[in-house]
Amino acid sequence: MRSLPEHVQQDFLSDPRFRISIDNYVAGQGWTLWMATPGPPGNGSRCVVLRLKLTYCSEQFANYVIAHEFAHAFLRNGPWGDISDVEEAADALAATWGFVRPADP
Ligand SMILES: [Zn+2]
Repeated sequence: MRSLPEHVQQDFLSDPRFRISIDNYVAGQGWTLWMATPGPPGNGSRCVVLRLKLTYCSEQFANYVIAHEFAHAFLRNGPWGDISDVEEAADALAATWGFVRPADP
């Protein structure tokens, strides 16, 4: 998180809706996640849920995924500039933070 621009860190740290969670998936049982219900655009949960399987990816790919998810949270799952596709927007913003999607996970 320290790799993110200061204004992004401050945005997250000043919003009580922002949090980071590690999923608790158990094979055959599923997983649980407690989070605020979605609200009006821009007011929903900003919870970033990270999967344990990231520990099996390359560090570069894991950092990219985490930055991509942070970008979604920063953009409140919305577009970025002229990029209306939320996945492309998150990728583009993460890339400006120095986390480009690697070719191989
Ligand atoms: Zn995404």
